[in-house]
Amino acid sequence: MIKEIEVKDLLPDEIEKTIKFLESILGIKENEKSTLSKLVNREKKKIYCPFCKSISIVKNGHSKKGVQRYKCKECLHRFCDTTNTLSNNSKLTYKIWLEFFKCMSDKLSIRKTAAKLQLNKNTIFGMRHKVLNALSIFRENRKLSGEIQCDEKYESINLKGTKPQQMPRFSKPRKSQGGSKRGISDHQICIASAIDENDNIYFKIVGNGSITTKMVEKAFDNHLEKNCIMITDCKSSYEKFCTNNRIKLEQVKSGTYKNLNGYNLSEINALHSNLDLFLKSFAGVSTKHLQQYLDWFVYQKYLTYSIEILEQPQVLMNYALSRKSYIKISDIYSMDFPIDIYNIYADYNFSPSPHI
Ligand SMILES: [Zn+2]
Repeated sequence: MIKEIEVKDLLPDEIEKTIKFLESILGIKENEKSTLSKLVNREKKKIYCPFCKSISIVKNGHSKKGVQRYKCKECLHRFCDTTNTLSNNSKLTYKIWLEFFKCMSDKLSIRKTAAKLQLNKNTIFGMRHKVLNALSIFRENRKLSGEIQCDEKYESINLKGTKPQQMPRFSKPRKSQGGSKRGISDHQICIASAIDENDNIYFKIVGNGSITTKMVEKAFDNHLEKNCIMITDCKSSYEKFCTNNRIKLEQVKSGTYKNLNGYNLSEINALHSNLDLFLKSFAGVSTKHLQQYLDWFVYQKYLTYSIEILEQPQVLMNYALSRKSYIKISDIYSMDFPIDIYNIYADYNFSPSPHI
């Protein structure tokens, strides 16, 4: 960085000259091939081998495009800063990626982003999903502490983008069930959600239907710091989880604003309303990709809390481009549903048997 003090000593004409010089350099850097790998290098706190995780590495020359190469002294693999990140082998320049992240921050649709960047819709679809996949690490590393408001959010199953041959099929009723319908809420995706006293947010799809103790475990195991307090409504699934894990529980009865000890669920409720608005802006999100959009929502909230709005696309870019992300386009298209929707449909949408 240029020292501020040196710039302050410049005269106006010298500042103008400096600006022109910097602008010309900026134009070059934005389009240079090695810029992305330099960016990833800066964002990664430590350089280690992406194959065996060893930090025993040596610099190993540069590629034709000026990208720094390394060699691992343990497993002898060669790699560069972008290996196993989503900017690896990216034909797109820094400038295009930054424009793309600005479109993401504005929550532009894939179609509008494609038009703005003059790229193919499928390219943008791939970029978006690779970025969202890279954000999952933010959820996986999340630890909640102190007072934690927890609740669930239910979303209807959305089959958008599912190929006809992968659509769940109606099936005949199983004898054991006698054709009886189960609760309607089995058709709802259950998202466990939480926000702690430091505004750390956590959203995870845990199954379908009403939340069970198992689903609470699936959501919060390894995500809670010691001595935290869970604030929930009166569902028994949280009670059991807290008893099993010796966590202090504060329950707030539905219909009341706060309990006798002054605890309430207002922040998590407000977040749920925010999530509704967020998901609405995409005109329906496929259940297949819902967890990725939840990860995006949570990361976007983190940006809103801590980064000035104009700087958000850059921060998102720096974070997403330097995370490990192995996902291939073909994996995105063939992604599994986060819940067993085939089973749900089989149980529910039966054709009445002629014997009944
Ligand atoms: Zn290695």
